[in-house]
Amino acid sequence: MIRTPAGFFSVLDATLDDEAIAHVFVRDALVLFGDTPVALPWRIYRSAGLAAARVHPIGRYAGRTHVAVALDDRYSPHGLPEGLRAANLRSWFGVLDDETLSIAMRAVQVLEWDRTHRFCGVCATPTEQVGHERAKRCPACGLVSYPRISPAMMVMVTRGRELLLGRGINFPAGRYSALAGFVEAGETVEEAVEREVREEVGIEVRDLRYFGSQSWPFPNSLMIAFRAEYADGELRPDPAELADARWFTPEALPQLPPPLSIARALIETTLADLR
Ligand SMILES: [Zn+2]
Repeated sequence: MIRTPAGFFSVLDATLDDEAIAHVFVRDALVLFGDTPVALPWRIYRSAGLAAARVHPIGRYAGRTHVAVALDDRYSPHGLPEGLRAANLRSWFGVLDDETLSIAMRAVQVLEWDRTHRFCGVCATPTEQVGHERAKRCPACGLVSYPRISPAMMVMVTRGRELLLGRGINFPAGRYSALAGFVEAGETVEEAVEREVREEVGIEVRDLRYFGSQSWPFPNSLMIAFRAEYADGELRPDPAELADARWFTPEALPQLPPPLSIARALIETTLADLR
């Protein structure tokens, strides 16, 4: 699972020195540096002569400032100066160290919020950055916008030694995972678990236990994970959401979500208890 590294703290303003780390995004691709790719030092970014559309200091960690940079739209991931390599954030999982990856996952969310809140949603006036917090304010009507975070629930339902895993209609071929869905306005996350399981597979669950949470920047989810026990009903996967859903035993599992995801941690923890 990806967590904020111990000792990290957010900053809104920073002096960028040669030791700073630049989380540079070209569209949704993160730029790394070198043949064995590492996080891009600010001095390398600066000497590359690239034009930034937006720059946001993100935080300090281990004595270094981390800054988010969105390149101008004219750049593409394939047309960068020598030594720079851009790829979707997911493809850097396991390449970039987990601490830096966690900060990059913050950076991309701040940049995406910045990109999508340049104008007031009420009166369309260009927004201004608030000085003392990560927020934008409309100078005409006063509307304040914060980085958008969308809570979503995930649940590992077990029935004795069996695990309930589903295949979302957009999943990679062969991949199964714990059920998940967004929390609706007005409901608790526990209610969202019960509703989503009922809607997606037609069963009832009981004994909800909180497992943990993880920020998931695709684009701005906060995954809140639970374990639950089957209570009642027959599996009837909703074809609008799921290509398949089944009970699996620990001895005959399908392809699981990638390491570093909370889904994988939730499944592995459940398996460890069942074995
Ligand atoms: Zn306004």
